[in-house]
Amino acid sequence: MNVVETRERLAAARAVARGRVAVVMTMGALHDGHVELLRTARGEADTVLLTIFVNPLQFAPGEDFERYPRTMANDLELARAAGVDIAFTPTRDVMYPQGAPAVRVDPGPAGEELEGASRPGFFHGVLTVVNKLFQLTRPDVAYFGEKDYQQLGMIRAMVRDFDLPIEVRGVPTVREPDGLALSSRNRYLAPAERRAALVLSRALRAAANAQADPVATGIAEFATEPEVKLDYFVLTDPMLGPAPAHGPARLLTAAWVGGTRLIDNIEVQLP
Ligand code: AMP
Repeated sequence: MNVVETRERLAAARAVARGRVAVVMTMGALHDGHVELLRTARGEADTVLLTIFVNPLQFAPGEDFERYPRTMANDLELARAAGVDIAFTPTRDVMYPQGAPAVRVDPGPAGEELEGASRPGFFHGVLTVVNKLFQLTRPDVAYFGEKDYQQLGMIRAMVRDFDLPIEVRGVPTVREPDGLALSSRNRYLAPAERRAALVLSRALRAAANAQADPVATGIAEFATEPEVKLDYFVLTDPMLGPAPAHGPARLLTAAWVGGTRLIDNIEVQLP
C-alpha cells in the first residue's frame, strides 16, 4: 500500500494506477462500515484509493471537529488488510493551501433540509471536499455508504448536475449485531448511552413494519428512551422527495444521545 500525503505524490501514484480506479472517501476512525466500502471496491475495481481527511469545512463552530477520533495507525492497518492500493492522507494545508475556500459547492434547496437544517453549511462543506477529492483522485467509480443517505443523494446530484464522469455506488449500512449502525461517533457513547442509542434502529424497524402511520410508530418508539432527544423522523420517497402513498420509500432519523448526534435510515415498502 502506497501512503501519500501530498498532491504531488498522489498525482504520481494516480498516474501509474492500473485499470478501473475506485475511491472510498472517509474521515478515518475506520470501522467495519468503511471496510465494507473498501471490500466492495476491491471486488469491483483494479485500483482502490482510500482518502482519510477530517474535513474542517463540514463542521459548524461548536461541533466535534477537535475531538473527532483520529486513529491513523490503526486506519492504515485496516486499509492494508482490505487491499487498499493507495491511501491519501492529506493535512489541512494540503487540502486547503489558501485556507478555507471562498468558492464552495452550493447543494441547493435539498441541502437545507434534514441534516442541512440541523447543521447549517454541512452539505456545502461535504460537497466541496468531495468535489476537490474527485478532482485530485480522478476515480472511475466512487463508493459511499447508505448510512449517510442524504449525503449519498446529494453526491449523486452533484455528479449529475456537474457532469462528472464518475459512477457513484451506494453500499448498504453495516450494523452491530444488535442493530446499531456503525459510526465513528459511536466511540463517544458511554455504556448507558450505547444502550439508549439502539432506539434509532429500533424505531426505524418498528416504523418499517407498521401496518399504518410509520412515522407515528417510529416517534412513539422514541418515547421509550426519554433521554434521547429526537431531531427528526421522516418518511420520504427513495430519492428524498415527498413520501409516496405506497411502494418503496425511505425512513430517516437523527437524534441526540447525550452530547452525540447520531443518524440512521432504512428502506421501507409501504403496503
Ligand atoms: P465517514 O468517515 O463517517 O465520513 O464515512 C465515510 C464513508 O463511509 C461514507 O460514505 C459513509 O456513508 C460510509 N459509512 C460510514 N458508516 C457506515 C456504515 N455503518 N455502513 C456503511 N457505510 C458507512
